[in-house]
Amino acid sequence: MSHDPNCIFCKISKGEIPSSIFYQDDEVIAFHDIRPAAPVHFLIVPREHIPRLQDSGSDHQALLGKMLLLAPKLAAEQGVTNGFRVVINNGEDGGQEVYHLHVHVMGGPRPWKIG
Ligand code: AMP
Ligand code: ZN
Repeated sequence: MSHDPNCIFCKISKGEIPSSIFYQDDEVIAFHDIRPAAPVHFLIVPREHIPRLQDSGSDHQALLGKMLLLAPKLAAEQGVTNGFRVVINNGEDGGQEVYHLHVHVMGGPRPWKIG
């Protein structure tokens, strides 16, 4: 499994920097976004260093499916009861800041900081 020693999410996955991980297994971790845009805002992150969604391939099909299936499960565990938003930013014009694939899950009562 590839990692990037300079990547913040690889470091979080390895426990090298602190985070609020509340779910982890051998393939993915989930932790709260440090700058939440909604009352509940967490990230589902593969342990493998895949820079962008567009860098994933058929080898990652099961992993991507797993991440999406975890979204409603973990949202419910985090107390989200009335719907949520799932976002993957990809590349510069997609607004991606951290180049390690991740799924944003945002929920909780509105208004949120973003529309
Ligand atoms: P994106 O624009 O999709 O790349 O989003 C990256 C997200 O990672 C942003 O919402 C940041 O607030 C979040 N983030 C960056 N560093 C950390 C960190 N150390 N712990 C938790 N979330 C982080
Ligand atoms: Zn990484």
